[in-house]
Amino acid sequence: MYHSRGQARGVERLYLDFDSFFASAEQHFNPDLRGQPVGVVPLDSLHTGCIAVSREAKARGVKSGMTIAKAREITPEMVFVVARHDVYVRLHKRILEVIETVLPVAQVRSIDEVVCHLLPSEAEQGERLAKWLKAALASTFSDVLTCSIGMAPTELLAKIAAEQHKPDGFQLIEADHLPQALAGIDLNDLPGVSTGMRARLEAAGVKDFASLWALAPKQARAIWGSVEGERFWNGVHGFHTERPVTKKSMFGHSRMLPRDWRTHDKIAICARLLTQSAGRRVRRAEVRATKMTLGLRGGGSRVASETRSENLRWNWEGAFLPARDDHTFLTALGDGLAEAKRTLSFRPRSVSVMIHGLISSADIMTDLFDTAAQIPGGIARKTDREKWERVSDLMDGVRARLGPQALTMGPQADMPGGYLGAKIAFGRIPDEADFSGPKIADEDTHFVTI
Ligand SMILES: [Mg+2]
Repeated sequence: MYHSRGQARGVERLYLDFDSFFASAEQHFNPDLRGQPVGVVPLDSLHTGCIAVSREAKARGVKSGMTIAKAREITPEMVFVVARHDVYVRLHKRILEVIETVLPVAQVRSIDEVVCHLLPSEAEQGERLAKWLKAALASTFSDVLTCSIGMAPTELLAKIAAEQHKPDGFQLIEADHLPQALAGIDLNDLPGVSTGMRARLEAAGVKDFASLWALAPKQARAIWGSVEGERFWNGVHGFHTERPVTKKSMFGHSRMLPRDWRTHDKIAICARLLTQSAGRRVRRAEVRATKMTLGLRGGGSRVASETRSENLRWNWEGAFLPARDDHTFLTALGDGLAEAKRTLSFRPRSVSVMIHGLISSADIMTDLFDTAAQIPGGIARKTDREKWERVSDLMDGVRARLGPQALTMGPQADMPGGYLGAKIAFGRIPDEADFSGPKIADEDTHFVTI
């Protein structure tokens, strides 16, 4: 069945794609390379192809994939550097942490591409939201590490939007503006349309976006020869086909503590930041939580055999009335930190905060009062709780209007190497542990010698 026009298909996805990522990363770490045509190659060899070229090189007509020899013909002054994948992976992780200060990352699509799911209130911000993301990245890194952002009803459309105005671009595609908004796009530029698929489309009389748009889902399926065609049709038309996400059972973060952050005072700063971030996620999901676990890990360090003797563990769990406000979470955390001060017998290497025992807000409205009535001081606490919930909502609202740096409860603190540690499935991005050999310093550019 066809979906009728005018059906609500709100802007629900944000796609963020870094511009010439490897080349920009090299320019970020080595200021001498900024403003220069730079090519990143996998090997120190004349016949190897560039895996990335900087925007300056692109402007001179050099394309990704060209050999050093060919690129030098076009741009004799071009600088070539050898790719340093472990450096890029470390940068990728720091980038995710910065993005997470603005929006939760739903999926990591590649080392330089992520998808965020948008609430209606976030989508309403439109380009402002993209500007906050870009400002957060620019203030942490440098202005050479730019990204292009697309916002649209589906991930496919958001990805297409992000490609529209590279570098440093922004594009919003709304369902109502289709197919006109993409009328001029080359079908080859659509993700999921390979050269082979292009030929099949052509054979079926589909030569431009308008005729692609006019296909019926079944026709798309027939051209693709698989359910992928129908998936593509849905994506282009603004309908999600991904399976619903399984319900979260907890919100939390953990992060490694740098050596000089392994004191009680510094652990407390770090744990507060983790708690506030988890609290925002609780409110965003419209649930209340009843428990918090503070975890500290220590013990042996990583050894050459890649095994880790992380045998020292300390855990504390606190319970509270169903809550969604930072005051409750930070008070509980305070209890946990005090307990750590009394009983912790080792120097921790990592700290984690998990907020769990989740109950949907809708379920709790009536129960909350009954439960409160049975606890000494419960009713007074409930009134207090409502006040603190309004404070947290107010602060979330201010953050949503003025940007993420606007407010936090308590002193603003900076963690070395990023704000917080988000737990993200890295897909095919390798872990730092996957790299053998000595660690390569960020600023240690590997110039091509030939
Ligand atoms: Mg990119």
